[in-house]
Amino acid sequence: MEQSTTLLPNFTHSPIDVHSHFNHGSKFDCPETEAHIRDINFIESVYRRVGVTQVGISTFASVTEPTCVSEENEYLHRLIKEKDWVYQWVVIDPRQKETYAQAQRMLTHPKVLGIKLHPAYHGYRILDYAQELFAFANSQKTVVLIHPQYEISSMRPFADKCPDMKLILAHLDSTRFQEYTDTIAYAEYGNIYTDTSGRASAANNVIEGAVQRVGSQKILFGTDTYSYAFQFGRIALSALSTEEKENILWKNATRLFPNAFLS
Ligand SMILES: [Zn+2]
Repeated sequence: MEQSTTLLPNFTHSPIDVHSHFNHGSKFDCPETEAHIRDINFIESVYRRVGVTQVGISTFASVTEPTCVSEENEYLHRLIKEKDWVYQWVVIDPRQKETYAQAQRMLTHPKVLGIKLHPAYHGYRILDYAQELFAFANSQKTVVLIHPQYEISSMRPFADKCPDMKLILAHLDSTRFQEYTDTIAYAEYGNIYTDTSGRASAANNVIEGAVQRVGSQKILFGTDTYSYAFQFGRIALSALSTEEKENILWKNATRLFPNAFLS
């Protein structure tokens, strides 16, 4: 085999991580181990080391424990004013009506990216609430980031009624590749996206294959607190063009969140 030097492209902007979390000392923090650290100081030190300055976040407690959602939203809303690199996903639990009003208020802040939903951890069926949740997001012309479980393709009919909402189906997953890519490809208004966060994008053609099927403009970069080096390297050294890599790593985020991120 001929030897070659692998060069990283010269990206014109540092990556924007649209999907992460952290622990901050809440009693509902996500359990952590020595091998997977979730503390805010550790997370921040990683971003500082690699030069990432824009991260869309919800606290772990807000997605793991429904009883603390509004309190955690308030905590994070204060934090975005203190920490440059922190951008907020405001969490709604549709069974707690006050979280809608809270979201409506917070969404006017330029560092609030949109609404985060975690039906699996919060313990409700998204199909019971999707209509009202998405109609609300549509009225706010905002982006919804959902941790999908068994309902990827069933999200499309709801998105098809909400042209002013954008929906990110998190955690592009090689084992459900067809479902993710079909749902994105057939969205009537082209308003469904996915992100690379988590470890389900480790398969060797999942991101490249998704770009082929739905285009690089439908995929966003996220870590979900997994190794930044893995997630960044997975895209930076993939078999994609520099333009496609840049779309995923940061350009799509500037398009989806024009008030938060300058292009
Ligand atoms: Zn997440």
